[in-house]
Amino acid sequence: MCGIVGYLGKDNAKEIVLNGLKRLEYRGYDSAGMSLFDESSHKFVNFKEKGRIKILEESLTLDHSSMGIGHTRWATHGRVNRENAHPHTSEDGRFTIVHNGVIDNHNKLKKLYFENHTFKSETDTEVICELIALYAQKMPSTDAIRKVLKMLHGSYALLVIDHDDPNTLYAAKFKSPLLIGKSDNGMVIGSDMMALVGTADNYLALDDETFLRVTKNNFTLYDLDGEVLPYQMSPLDIDDFSSEKGEFDHYMLKEIHEQPAVLRRIISKYFNDTTIHIDDEIINTIKSHDRIHILAAGTSMHAGLIGKGLLESFSNIPTEVHIASEFAYQQPLLGEKPFFILISQSGETADLRACLVNLKKAQHKVLTITNVRTSTLAREADFALELHAGPEIAVASTKAYTAQIAVLSILAYALSNQSFDLKRELSETAQAMEHFLDKYEVMEKFAKDYLQKPNCFYIGRGSDYYVGLEAALKLKEISYIQTEGFAAGELKHGTIALIEEGTPVIAIISNDKTAENTRSNLSEVKSRGAKTLTITFESLKENGDEIVLDNINPSLSPLLTVIPTQLIAYYAALHRGHDIDKPRNLAKSVTVE
Ligand code: GLU
Repeated sequence: MCGIVGYLGKDNAKEIVLNGLKRLEYRGYDSAGMSLFDESSHKFVNFKEKGRIKILEESLTLDHSSMGIGHTRWATHGRVNRENAHPHTSEDGRFTIVHNGVIDNHNKLKKLYFENHTFKSETDTEVICELIALYAQKMPSTDAIRKVLKMLHGSYALLVIDHDDPNTLYAAKFKSPLLIGKSDNGMVIGSDMMALVGTADNYLALDDETFLRVTKNNFTLYDLDGEVLPYQMSPLDIDDFSSEKGEFDHYMLKEIHEQPAVLRRIISKYFNDTTIHIDDEIINTIKSHDRIHILAAGTSMHAGLIGKGLLESFSNIPTEVHIASEFAYQQPLLGEKPFFILISQSGETADLRACLVNLKKAQHKVLTITNVRTSTLAREADFALELHAGPEIAVASTKAYTAQIAVLSILAYALSNQSFDLKRELSETAQAMEHFLDKYEVMEKFAKDYLQKPNCFYIGRGSDYYVGLEAALKLKEISYIQTEGFAAGELKHGTIALIEEGTPVIAIISNDKTAENTRSNLSEVKSRGAKTLTITFESLKENGDEIVLDNINPSLSPLLTVIPTQLIAYYAALHRGHDIDKPRNLAKSVTVE
């Protein structure tokens, strides 16, 4: 969610910070700003604007700078306007900061230290800046910053400039992600690896409660007591090819199309010939537990529901799925030997981090399944499995969802005594995905014909119901059509009252045991005026079925049935003229609780 970039070195900070912010755009934001050192006047100049980075870019009057910090804001405290956009500079003009996160005790601090001060913004951030300025009157700025960090409750990734020393940049992290990258030319700091790509050769992902003093060619890492900490940097080996849109109009469409390739990459990473390549320690540890609890949020939670079915049916391990934000503060009874799987595309989801902290305290074993191997959740869990989906830029997740299901299927299989050829079944699924995507444009007509009302329902049974939940989320996220995913048999117990002439109801039918029942539910709504659409497989098709997919192993059907629903969401949003890759009010990785 939102982002931070800072640069100090021989290259042009303006370009590096601006490009970094553009690369972080996908995380979602509502305003953006930068502070750049103007070498001619020897002063820092702040630029900030509400809205897109393009607007900020047009407002920049400096061409070159050796040092700068930038921010994309996703407002948590205070309206979305220019005044509240970051950077914020202290009243005395000495300190400028950008901040990602939330300061829970900002009101208390304002009352305690600044009773008569009028703050320029409504943010929870500005008080940090004033506090640093206050303490820096009596002590060196490093001490002042550390002192203030200890006073903050909440979360922060923070960059601080001391105008008295334009050759030094300070950074700190607690709960919100922050990484530092190094090259021969300078130092770059960002809240996401994407901001470092192309500028740094090596990187270090910071731990909580650490503090950095950065100069043009080096940095020192401290804890909050000022003790110097050792560190080891890792080579940055992500290339930036996959962060471009290429021939597609939107990242979402590109990412939908990448799914067969991602599935093949997962196969190549997780299989040696036909044997599965997952650390024995992971498999043995899970096997020594008697129940799996999957924790996740949003789309990842929907992948978790499919994972539950796979884990229970392949490996007979009872599995429960929990919404992370609920689990964090209402932990249910866990049973004798629970094992935990955290699923998060970004690996930075704050709701999951809150769970992880408690789980670690209680000494439970945790596996994180994530797309970002350097992420906080991957680093802090006992084990991690990578999705290998490549950067997912569109806010609405598509390829990460199918990658999560694929990795869960491989894990479930590795825990089981199954002997079917999963590798082949997954390859056939990739082929079936590709086959369907070859004629993806047909989905445009369905999105147009069926979705003329402000509401819509997806129905299905078993895993089709779970795909329906994800399909509904996708449609509401980007088209803003109010959509619900429903267990097909449940509709008649109340919600069928909402069906009227023309209400779209889309059925997903992949299971021969329940196909008849779902078709009956479909006729029930049809008799009440619903406009229906069926997504099914060759082997189950009936006359009049609109979307028929190639047969694949039924356990893997969610990998395929979800694809038409992703395209329905895409085209519905396109017809309505919405910003597909950056839907309103949403951010890519939700780093606040
Ligand atoms: N809480 C701060 C604000 O509302 C920072 C939000 C962010 O992370 O962008 O300004």
